[in-house]
Formats: sequence, C-alpha cells, structure tokens
Amino acid sequence: MNSETSRLDTSVTTFRGVGEARAAALFKMNIFTAGDLLRCYPRAYQNRGDTVTLAEIRERLKNGEGDGPFSVLLTIAAEPSVSMIRRGMTLLKVRAFDETDAVEITYFNQTYLRDKLTTGASFRFFGKFALEKSKLKLNSPISEPYIEGVPLPDIVPVYPLSAGLTQKMMASLVNEAMRMCANEIAEFLPTDALSELGLPTLSYTLANIHKPESMNALESAKRRLVFDELYLMFLSLSLSGAKLKRDNTLPMKLSHEDAAAFKGILPFELTNAQRRSVNEIAADMGGEFLMNRILTGDVGSGKTIVAAAAIYMAVKNGYRAALMVPTEILANQHYEDLSALFGKLGITCALLTGSVKKKERESILAGLTDDGIDIGKIDVVIGTHALISEGTVIDHLGLAVIDEQHRFGVTQRAALFDKAADVHCLVMSATPIPRTLTLAMYGSIDVSRIDELPKGRQTIDTFIVDERYRERLNAFIRKQAAEGHQVYVVCPAVEEAEEDPYTKAYDGNDTDEMADVPLVETWRDTSVPLKAATVFAEVLAQALPELKVGYVHGKQKPSQREAVMSEFASGNLDVLVSTTVIEVGVNVPNATLMIVENAERFGLSQLHQLRGRVGRGTAKSYFILVSDSKNPVARDRLNAIKSTSDGFRIAEYDLEMRGPGDFLGDNGIIRQHGQMNFTLAATCRDTNLIERAAFYAKRTAADDPELSEDVNRRAAKQLGRFVKEFGNTQN
Ligand code: ADP
Ligand code: MG
Repeated sequence: MNSETSRLDTSVTTFRGVGEARAAALFKMNIFTAGDLLRCYPRAYQNRGDTVTLAEIRERLKNGEGDGPFSVLLTIAAEPSVSMIRRGMTLLKVRAFDETDAVEITYFNQTYLRDKLTTGASFRFFGKFALEKSKLKLNSPISEPYIEGVPLPDIVPVYPLSAGLTQKMMASLVNEAMRMCANEIAEFLPTDALSELGLPTLSYTLANIHKPESMNALESAKRRLVFDELYLMFLSLSLSGAKLKRDNTLPMKLSHEDAAAFKGILPFELTNAQRRSVNEIAADMGGEFLMNRILTGDVGSGKTIVAAAAIYMAVKNGYRAALMVPTEILANQHYEDLSALFGKLGITCALLTGSVKKKERESILAGLTDDGIDIGKIDVVIGTHALISEGTVIDHLGLAVIDEQHRFGVTQRAALFDKAADVHCLVMSATPIPRTLTLAMYGSIDVSRIDELPKGRQTIDTFIVDERYRERLNAFIRKQAAEGHQVYVVCPAVEEAEEDPYTKAYDGNDTDEMADVPLVETWRDTSVPLKAATVFAEVLAQALPELKVGYVHGKQKPSQREAVMSEFASGNLDVLVSTTVIEVGVNVPNATLMIVENAERFGLSQLHQLRGRVGRGTAKSYFILVSDSKNPVARDRLNAIKSTSDGFRIAEYDLEMRGPGDFLGDNGIIRQHGQMNFTLAATCRDTNLIERAAFYAKRTAADDPELSEDVNRRAAKQLGRFVKEFGNTQN
C-alpha cells in the first residue's frame, strides 16, 4: 500500500485551542486525527427548532405529558437577581414571558449570565420545565440570544465527551475538521448501491450527521452510516469467508459397520434435526471442499453428540480431531462426556488445558505427534486455547471443532482459524441466529440448524415479577435450597454505578447541555437503576444467612472465577450471583431456579441463553425475571420470553424489535471492537438494508478480492480502521 498523506490524518494536537490537556481528553475517546473527529458522531440531537408556547407547556405538565426539554422564545421581564445560597453556590433568578404566560428561570453558579439576560432581550431557551404551586419553572436551560431575522440552528448535535471537553469545543473541532477535509471525503460504496437504496454521498452524510439541515437529512445520513457499517462488516466477513473455501484434501467416509457401531453406543435415539445435521456433516467431510460449517442449536438441543459423530468419522479415517472450548469448565465437561462415549469404541481422548501439569502435558503432546512410537497415541484432544498455544503440534489433524466460538477473544479466534485452515472445521453456537442474518453473515459458510429439542425435555416455568415480590423471591430461594437444589441470580452489572455500556464514551459531563433525544433508538429501558453482582451478593447473603452465596463476574481472574464456578457445580454453594459470564455452557443439573435482576436490560437471546442454564436435571425448574420497568416495549419483550421457548423464534423477534445488535455485538458472533461504531448498525431493524449490504459486500469481495479498484481501495482503508480487530479477516 502506498503511504499517501491525507488531511484526514492531521493530528488533533495541531488544532487551534488543543493543548496538552484537551489532547489527552480527546485521546481518551480514541480521537487522534481529523478523520477521527469526523467519525465521532453525535450521540444525540436536540431539536430546538420546534418552539412551543408557555401555555402549551403548562397544559402538558398538568396532563403529565412530559416535562421536556422544550424550546421556547421568551423575553426577559426584569433584571436577574443573584443570591448566595451557601458557600460557593450562587443562585440566579430571572423572570421571562411570552404572549401566553410567564416563567421563573433559575441558574446555579452562572452569575455571568446576569449581564446577558437583560430586560427586554429575547432568547431561545431549551430545557426541562416544572410546575410548582401552579407556577412555571425552568431550571438551567440553554440560552441563545434571539434576534429577528438571524436564524438559529434547529437541530443541535450532542457529542460524547470526556472530562475536560465541552459540547461547544467538540462542535468547533468537528467543524474545523470538516472544513479542513471537505475535499478528501471520498466515496467508498458502489455507485449502484447508493442509487438502489437512495443513500446520500459520504460528504453529504458527514455534513448532516454533524450539522443536520433538517430531520429528514439527519435520518438519511443515519441510514447511510448504518449501511456503511453493515457493508464493511460483511465485506470483511466475505473476504475471510472467501479464503476458507478449499479443496477437500482430507476426504473421509464411513462404512456401514462403523456407523452402526457408533449408533450402538448412543444412550438415546438421535432427533431428526440431529440426524440431518450428522448427514450434512458427513457429506461435507466426504465432499468436494473442506468442511466449513456452523452448527447452531439451542442450548440443550444436543450439539455435542453431533460433534462426536464428526469426530468419530475423522478418527475412523485415521485422523486426529481437536475440540476447542472457551473455558476450562466446559473443556472438563466435554472431556468427561466424550471419553465415556469413545471409551467404548477404543478411541482415546485427552484433556489439554492451562492447568494440566507439565509432565502430563508432555505426555499428551507426545501422544499427539506421529513420531513412530505408538504407545499412548491420542485420537481426540479436548481443550481450551492451550490447544493453539505455541508448541502444541497435532499431527494428522483432520477435524477441528470449536464450541461457542464467539466467546473466544479476537486474537485467539484468528489463531484458531489459522490452525484449522486446512482441516475440516465445525463451529458450534448456541446463539440462534435469525435466518436472514445467517445467510448474510455466513455467505460461504454452511449452516446446520438443530431446531428441535430431544423428547421429554421439561418445560421451564417463566415468571415476570417486580420488586414487591422480593420477600417471596427470597422465600422461594430458601425453599429450593431446602430441597437440595441450587439457584442462579443474574445481575446486569459487576459493580455499583457502573457505566451503562450503551452510553459508553459518554461520562455524563455535559452539565451545560442536556440531551434527552437519543441518537439511536434504544430498546433498553435504562431508567431503572442497575443491580450489581458484587453488591447484590452481599444483600442476598444478609437476607439468607443460612445459605452459602458466591459470586462470579467477568472482571475476576479466570482462575478465581472458575474456582467459584466449580464450587457451585459441586454443590458447595447454594446461590451463585453472577453477571452473564455464566451464560455459556455451564452444566449444573441440580440448579432449578434462575432469577434475573433488571431483566429489562438484557437482550432476548441473552435471556433465552440464560434460561437454558436451568432445567438440565430431572427436577422442575423456574426462570424468574425481575423488572420494575414500566416501559411498554420492555414489558413486551419480557412477555415474549415468557410465551415461547423456541430460540430461533426469539431470535427473529429480537431482530425485528431492535436489529442485529445481539448477534453482532458483545454477545454475538462478532465482538464490538475498537472504533467500529456498531451502535448504529446494531439497532438497524431494516432487514432489507442488512440483506442489501451483504449482497453488495459479497459482490465486491467476489469481483475484487484484493480490493484494488479505486472505490474499493477506499473501502479497504475504511476496513483498515478496525480490521486488526477482526484478526482473521485480512493480512
Ligand atoms: P448443547 O446443544 O447445549 O451442547 P448437549 O449436547 O450438551 O447440548 O446436550 C444436552 C443434553 O441432552 C445432554 O445431556 C445430552 O446427553 C442430551 N441429549 C442429546 N441428544 C439427545 C437425544 N437425541 N435424546 C435424548 N437426550 C439427548
Ligand atoms: Mg454445548
């Protein structure tokens, strides 16, 4: 690649007014260059253009129809009064009116406004109103001098900030960057994509995302940015997918006798969906290309046995197979299950994790190579990422199975796919992915779906309750424990006052500006305070002194976390309070109750996954959602979980309700990383946009895999922003 310099790369430190402190504040938000400023999209907009009268506001307040923020045009009635209400705190009061009513405006510690808010002057105020003893009040509104004939901006951006920055500063920096780079904003989308979908050009888009001409222009800019994200994501996926299609150098087949032998040791009949998946896998392994298949199926749908069939086929053809999982607990569980199964067939399994002792590790490693010694030969190795660590050589590897792959870190995943590049590859995922998305995301990857549960599975009773049920909930925990069962309690946060991940990068520091209009529609009701696992564990321990309560969360060291998890698995803990780290794989059949706190905060698919942690034994199991949210959308979503247990249906519903966030984001197939602003695409509900983005991305990847055409070179540059984060997408 050439190293042409661009104004987009101009360092923010060269901007006027950016000293060391401001530069540091910008760096904190990952803003280093003019280009980064352009991509720092407002997190909200204030629509100050729609002014209302004070009389209308009074009416709305009376009817409980919201307290604003509203925009009003007012004239100052008299000079402001300033008083000291306590040390270091001044209060400024001023009366203002329009032709319908009057209002008292107050400001704290903004004495300087005294000289601005002069009698008879007109202002546009924007803020939240209150009605006190039938008097209208307006506290700390934004004020803009209003002069007849001089237009004020109607739609004002609200930027994410970090300490030391203000809205004004950000707006002026972005403005400067815009001016500087206006001629360098080059299109990277295919022309026909723009025209088919009626998307605006990139320069129009950036101009209007920062300084919208109108609400319509803003909508259209947002839509284009969503498309950008989707297009780039699919492009990077398609490029990696294109690489993975390889000739089958390891053709495998299974004799009738061998197939019968495998069937003979199964403790149950395969479901139709399992049988279909096994057949699809067998056809792949014996087919024209190396297998590159994802096996999706709900928790408990029986993916392991399907993987076992694939492993068996590889071993019967003289190859080794590796099964890699994200945690030691899961590795142990798979090891136990599979060695019990394969023991009957004379197939040897080994477990390789970080905690395997040196000596044993050496003998396992020896068993994985073909150095002429046949003693201790290992056919199947099951493990964590220790499997891909340096020094682990697996000779004659024919099949790599990866369970819950989205739980691996990005670099691990890259190494993983690297290792599995010339072998058959089966990825298993319990995240039910809606069909539209699977098609779009996995263009060249084949998909098997296990869409039915084994017969006789018990249903889990789901309830939705609120805080008033706390006592009864505690009593229910006691009852379960008294019957010898165990209980999960899931909280959305690790520590108290944790920042909401969905308003990340915003530290609440715009004291001078209010922002109540979210940029992206948020389905999450964030009005109910978050419960934190660490704190809630304390609370429960006090409420239930006779029970043993432990907690796990993602900020603990893995060893510490796993120690607590195995305490719970072995029955030494009655109650496990956790964040969603327990979402995946853990199997504690004795756990019969799961309580989810702040249920309104979770994605539906996430809740569905969580529910799958109980009902794994023979005892009746319960799933209780605790939510104080009154938000009708939130209630609807919780009711959806209550009314169905079909993961695929829930996934489709989730997609429809609020876009592919869960599937693409933190808990989904691709983790959110670095600067990739998934907040936009994550809420895209327009499945047509998703499909078209996938279509154009695949076309680009197929026609110009090196991305050498001009327009695609620019797309590559956009990709370059986060491609490192994807690890396996490009070299
Ligand atoms: P998951 O898809 O979540 O990985 P598992 O493979 O762990 O599910 O299977 C869950 C449980 O269901 C296991 O105890 C397994 O033995 C059992 N199971 C799997 N398939 C069947 C079947 N066809 N009939 C009865 N039980 C089954
Ligand atoms: Mg599993």
